[in-house]
Amino acid sequence: MIVVEHLTKYYGEYHAVRDVSFQVEKGQVVGFLGPNGAGKSTTMRILAGFLTASSGKATIDGKDVFWDPIAARRRIGYMPESCPLYTDMRVDEYLRFRGGLKGLSRKECKARLGFVLERCWLKDVSRQIIGTLSKGYRQRVGLADALLADPPVLILDEPTAGLDPTQIRETRKLMRELGEVHTMLLSTHILSEVEATCDSVIVIYQGQVVEDGSLAAVRKRHRNKPLEDIFVQLTGQE
Ligand code: ATP
Repeated sequence: MIVVEHLTKYYGEYHAVRDVSFQVEKGQVVGFLGPNGAGKSTTMRILAGFLTASSGKATIDGKDVFWDPIAARRRIGYMPESCPLYTDMRVDEYLRFRGGLKGLSRKECKARLGFVLERCWLKDVSRQIIGTLSKGYRQRVGLADALLADPPVLILDEPTAGLDPTQIRETRKLMRELGEVHTMLLSTHILSEVEATCDSVIVIYQGQVVEDGSLAAVRKRHRNKPLEDIFVQLTGQE
């Protein structure tokens, strides 16, 4: 469903993503792990069409991200690390506006809006101004936006960052439920979240993939060490 081949990104002279290749199969929930600055957000933003790559190839559901960006983007729901929400709009207004940008008709938008508000526990705040909402609620608005056009693929950049423990638990439950119907690439620093939600992991360090496989295969390769120890070993964090 997601195929990345030899992806490279330079910011000026800085080589942020170095020859990254991986695949995410249909129905998989994949944890995209790496220390701060490893290149996760850069890779995800390229896949979501918000950043151009320096070289390489990527397809989403067979659609080329660089040569057929509109078709590729239609197949993705992307939630950035900090949701770029228009904070002076109401939640329902914002989501209707986003639905229009995603090409939904008014009727489709109305139907999907009801669904995502319910799904992301936003019904009670749907008429509130986004700027008055807590971080947890704003994250959920970002998630509702990602789900709006019912895309087969979700790319979620640290969906539980900055949430309180109750919100983390709720969001994690939602991730598990979403993982049953969507193919997901999910970045996080919380390894217990990966164990609770993901089938597979891709570990990126200094812009390069240093591990990729099912949780079981990765554990086996590292003599059944805890995921935290494996991560530390792979990313030279000690
Ligand atoms: P984090 O977990 O902290 O979000 P990350 O793995 O998502 O990190 P990226 O945000 O992709 O990492 O950044 C990769 C590297 O590229 C970092 O060294 C970062 O400083 C650099 N970088 C990111 N965006 C830019 C930019 N616009 N201009 C220059 N360098 C950038």
